[in-house]
Amino acid sequence: MAARILDGKSLAAQVRAAVKNEVAALSHRGIRPGLAVLLAGDNAASRVYVRNKVRASEDTGVRSQLIELPASVSEQALLDHVLSLNEDREVHGILVQLPLPKQINAYKVLESVSPAKDIDGFHAANLGALVAGTPHMVPCTPAGVMRLLQHASVPLAGARAVVIGRSNIVGKPLALLLLQQDATVTICHSRTRDLEKVARSADILIAAVGRAKLVTGAMVKPGACVIDVGVNRLADGSLCGDVDFASASEVAGWITPVPGGVGPMTIAMLLENCVRAARAAIR
Ligand code: NAD
Repeated sequence: MAARILDGKSLAAQVRAAVKNEVAALSHRGIRPGLAVLLAGDNAASRVYVRNKVRASEDTGVRSQLIELPASVSEQALLDHVLSLNEDREVHGILVQLPLPKQINAYKVLESVSPAKDIDGFHAANLGALVAGTPHMVPCTPAGVMRLLQHASVPLAGARAVVIGRSNIVGKPLALLLLQQDATVTICHSRTRDLEKVARSADILIAAVGRAKLVTGAMVKPGACVIDVGVNRLADGSLCGDVDFASASEVAGWITPVPGGVGPMTIAMLLENCVRAARAAIR
């Protein structure tokens, strides 16, 4: 039986419509949510991501500004930009687009963002709050995955969840969010033994690796929910996830497509976080 599709594009559109209403309500009270994006260097993929974020924020009425810096920018100059945005009362959310040029310590820069404006949820204070079970700003991709699961009423409590990938921006925070919803969570990574067997034990299988078609139908438990976070560009220029959609969708109960699954949800969660930051700023 073919899997049900978890349609991130349509859910993201609903979230964005709700954000737009909220931006209008806040603007009515004299607060226009503001986003600032810092882009250093000329990474082509980063440029596309940033353009999409700025366009999406403008569509919902969030005021956005893009600060473009050369690849040669010094760490101090970048830090100075962040510090001045931290002080700017019209800016509620600050995004530092990764990766940063080699000469810059990304950790230091991310830690310089005010936790209240850290709408990516990458600051140690926000990650720590997530570990403590009191999340404030949740990283956008994991938040988007949780929203997709909840929207489809995928049972989480007591479910066996396997997250492949342990990055600080996707795998680890996602595992914590699943744990918070009472799933039994296993995190797999490049050194995991017998990945196939662990994956096949999952009621909820999440791939966040960056390897095209790593997860095949043979690794999916019949009826499982398969979430594909990966974005990989194939030689022919097309986009492909970490999951072999053709074989996995024959076995899974639910599955996300790439594109049109997790990707649109990431941007929608970013806008939600920005509005949350703006609301918190007026309390
Ligand atoms: P990352 O490179 O930081 O982490 C990859 C993880 O995969 C690592 O923890 C590594 O241990 C693990 N890994 C590598 N090879 C493996 C293997 N053979 N078996 C098991 N685990 C393996 O990547 P990331 O930043 O977490 O991103 C992961 C993927 O998700 C990428 O394709 C990225 O483009 C995509 N991504 C998508 C969105 C979105 O909005 N859709 C957002 C962020 C990242």
